[in-house]
Amino acid sequence: MLETKTSDSLLRNNVNFPTFSDLPHEYHVDPTYYVEGPYRIVPRQHWCFLGEIVGSYGLFRVLLRVKDKCGQVVTIGLYTDDRGHTLTPQIKPGHTVAVLYGEQHSFLDMTVGIRVEEPSIIKIIPCSLEQLLKASDDVAACNSNTQSRCCGSCGKEENTSHNTHLLLCSRCKQTSYCGEACQKQAWVDGHKADCKALVWVQWCAARNWGVFDGYFNF
Ligand SMILES: [Zn+2]
Ligand SMILES: [Zn+2]
Repeated sequence: MLETKTSDSLLRNNVNFPTFSDLPHEYHVDPTYYVEGPYRIVPRQHWCFLGEIVGSYGLFRVLLRVKDKCGQVVTIGLYTDDRGHTLTPQIKPGHTVAVLYGEQHSFLDMTVGIRVEEPSIIKIIPCSLEQLLKASDDVAACNSNTQSRCCGSCGKEENTSHNTHLLLCSRCKQTSYCGEACQKQAWVDGHKADCKALVWVQWCAARNWGVFDGYFNF
C-alpha cells in the first residue's frame, strides 16, 4: 500500500476547503478570507465548501440538504436565474456539491446554509465526499511517492527490467493497470466513480488556493 500523507492532502485543508462552521459569515468581514482593499473588500485566498447530498426539497427553487466534512447538515439554496432546475438531473443522494466562496447564511425557513446566486460557483461531483477525500489523499501520496507503481486492480508491480509496463488510465492519468483486463475489471469494481473524483481533485490541485488573483469558476 502507498503511504498516505494526509497533511499534504488538499481537500483536508480546513482553510481552503472549510466545513460550514469555518466559512465566513455573510455579515462579517472574516480576516482569514477577506482583506480590505483601497476601494472594496476582496478575498485574500480561495475557498470551496464541500457537502454530500442527503436530500433536496423545494418546488419553486432547488434547496439541497448536504452533510459537510464534520457531519453537519446544512441547506444550499439555489438563487440562480434558473432556480437550480438545470442541476436537477445531477442531484443524487451520495454525490457531492462543491460551492466556491460560500458564506454562512440564515434562510427564512430557519435552516442555515449557503445561498448560491451564480451558476459558475456550484458543481455536483458524481461521487461521495469520502471518495473525494480519498482521491485527494491519493493525489498527495502520488506527488510525494518515488516507489514503483502497481496495477490498480491485481497489485502487480511495474518492473521495467522484466518488461512489465503499466497502462495509465487515460482519464485520470493517476491509476495504472498491468493490462486491459485489469483496467476493465477495476472500472466495474468502482474506478468509474474514483476516476471522476481524481479528475476533480487534479483540477483543484492545479490551482493555487493560497493567493487570490481573480475568482475561480467551475
Ligand atoms: Zn493487474
Ligand atoms: Zn481513471
